[in-house]
Amino acid sequence: MAKLTVSDLDVKDKKVLIRVDFNVPVKDGVVGDDNRIVAALPTIKYVIENGGKAILFSHLGRVKTEEDKEKLTMRPVAQKLSDLLEKPVTFVPVTRGAQLEEAIANMKDGDVLLFENTRFEDLDGKKESGNDPELGKYWASLGDMFVNDAFGTAHRSHASNVGISEAMKAEGKPAAAGFLLEKEIKFLGDAVDAPVRPFVAVLGGSKVSSKIGVINHLLSKADKVIIGGGMTYTFYKAKGIAVGSSLVEDDKVELAKELMEKAGDKLVLPIDNVVADKFANDANYKTVEGDIPDGYMALDVGEKSIELFKENLKDAKTVVWNGPMGVFEMPNFAKGTLELGKFIGSLEDATTIVGGGDSVAAAKQLGIADKFSHVSTGGGSSLEYLEGKTLPAVAAVSDK
Ligand code: AMP
Repeated sequence: MAKLTVSDLDVKDKKVLIRVDFNVPVKDGVVGDDNRIVAALPTIKYVIENGGKAILFSHLGRVKTEEDKEKLTMRPVAQKLSDLLEKPVTFVPVTRGAQLEEAIANMKDGDVLLFENTRFEDLDGKKESGNDPELGKYWASLGDMFVNDAFGTAHRSHASNVGISEAMKAEGKPAAAGFLLEKEIKFLGDAVDAPVRPFVAVLGGSKVSSKIGVINHLLSKADKVIIGGGMTYTFYKAKGIAVGSSLVEDDKVELAKELMEKAGDKLVLPIDNVVADKFANDANYKTVEGDIPDGYMALDVGEKSIELFKENLKDAKTVVWNGPMGVFEMPNFAKGTLELGKFIGSLEDATTIVGGGDSVAAAKQLGIADKFSHVSTGGGSSLEYLEGKTLPAVAAVSDK
């Protein structure tokens, strides 16, 4: 069922509660990377340009002690948002109570208010992260409608996303998706559940254990699943190929065998690797085919593997990429990730999606992020989506 989105709402004169993802790096009271704030601007602007009052809130980091509050206040974020919007943003340094209620009552149409870090509520019994129903209900009472635009936390059931949505709906008020959330669901949802074929998934990263769900789910959805990165060598071991001192999860070798049996020729593994004599950029390294010699660890896929992967990708109409092909943080072992990322980005007739924290970081670090149709903003959320799980905060949005 299609979900209600912010553009379906009549926001004029309305108090619009908006859950944003402003979980940004802050150092010495100054916001560093402001990508997440920029990503929320379309929804905020839509609300204020259509005469609504935008009441914003987000979590920032993890609040465990009273002392954490000083470095995890939203104040610097309000300043950054004000700069980006080129208009004042009222910052309210509490998460509930008379000060917040009065500030909201004083808002005029088109005004923007940001209240304090929702996780300040975690100090008193994990009210936010534990989805305390009273808290969701309280926040819901502050507005006429709710918009969730925080994809990064959509895989979690918190008071500020699921709790508030449920409370709004219980009162007959709408809970809608913001533009960012809508875009994420559309790209990831279409790719996985209604892909234009051939659909090729490229999965990398360090561990099979953290990607089992994704490999399993995508094997049932994609036409080809290309595996690279540290995961490869658990599969190698399962195939009886020597792994040297490469990363291997011994307790996942059996599972790797099962996955290979299930996959048949759908699964594509590297045929050569760049192997190094230590885990460092200044290691001695060489490219070998097949068996990895003793005393060497594989840190990147080799040229022939890249060619093989390109061959499998060249006619793809949908590509989902999650996880680097090697230790891309070290320049000598970044080539596989870079070459493949560039190639996927160059596929003109394909919808190409990068998801997951590390592949997005790799794409950004390598300067190729703008080559993809969609760069997913939520690491954990996009991973869970690719595993076929329902994201609770998306499920909680009202149906159209
Ligand atoms: P993940 O968080 O599971 O997506 O894994 C990302 C991490 O995997 C990155 O930090 C990479 O450096 C690392 N990685 C990729 N390939 C290898 C490899 N062959 N050996 C060890 N680590 C790897």
